[in-house]
Amino acid sequence: MNLNLIAVLGGGQMGSGIAQVFAQSGFKTVIYDLAAGALDKSKAGITKNLDRAVEKGKLSAEDRDATLGRLTWTSNLADLSESDLVVEAIIEKLETKLQTWKQLDELCRPTAIFASNTSSLPITQLAGGVSHPERFIGMHFMNPVPVMQLVEIIRGYMTSDAVYQTIFDLSKTLGKVPVTVEDSPGFISNRILMPMINEAIFCLYEGIATKEDIDTVMKLGMNHPMGPLTLADFIGLDTCLFIMEVLYRDFADSKYRPCPLLRKMVQAGQLGRKTGAGFYTYDTAPKAVAAK
Ligand code: NAD
Repeated sequence: MNLNLIAVLGGGQMGSGIAQVFAQSGFKTVIYDLAAGALDKSKAGITKNLDRAVEKGKLSAEDRDATLGRLTWTSNLADLSESDLVVEAIIEKLETKLQTWKQLDELCRPTAIFASNTSSLPITQLAGGVSHPERFIGMHFMNPVPVMQLVEIIRGYMTSDAVYQTIFDLSKTLGKVPVTVEDSPGFISNRILMPMINEAIFCLYEGIATKEDIDTVMKLGMNHPMGPLTLADFIGLDTCLFIMEVLYRDFADSKYRPCPLLRKMVQAGQLGRKTGAGFYTYDTAPKAVAAK
């Protein structure tokens, strides 16, 4: 199948990274977001990433310019109507995603492939809202997308073999390593990662250790490149909470209950790096913020 135009829905940290990777691999890519501010931020972020790669000698100035030339940013959904593949990376809320896919379903050609970058929502349920569920699939990139090699490929109940194979092969074309996962809450990555992060937040909540020491245990003791609280800030605490709620609800198992401190921090708008404060602050170097 010819993928002449890729649409990326959502110009946040994941959508921007996904769009950058597609454009760097030679695909014409359009990024859509509701918020004009998000589009400006997305454009500035991708340009900065590419400039840095040029400075480091990892990318030629010509390739940077060609990559930027393949990217467009829009707040007009109609600009996505000709896309062959839509990758959705908007907020992790089922209702919002279903509503957005419904709009896309009405707008796009019936041959278009729809892929969701959801961290945890059932692909089969998202696919249930569109006219061609056989063309719907999960394409779960990791953060930061230009750096991380893994893509989880999640087959919904109705996903066709042809669409699965196209997306599997496409992931390799993007320079990624695809792993096939059945449609199950949290897939593999977040079923294992999020309970660990949630447990680290419980350790902080119960006063077992400081945030720095909790992170140090996992970094130096388990050889993790960053501690779980630093990682939670990086992912976004709202996303972490959404995922824990999905695991808790869909497995109906109390071991997945979100830590009250996580819930409280999200209510307070302390979402991590993207808001400048979570477990740490990000105006300069990460440093401790909350009292506990
Ligand atoms: P983010 O908050 O950085 O970005 C979300 C963007 O979506 C925002 O720019 C927002 O304006 C936009 N948006 C919200 N509703 C919209 C709508 N109806 N139409 C168009 N745009 C809309 O979030 P993120 O971290 O980029 O996460 C996006 C998705 O990727 C979520 O489903 C998340 O679970 C998933 N994901 C996140 C990570 C991570 O580490 N953050 C990793 C893998 C997958």
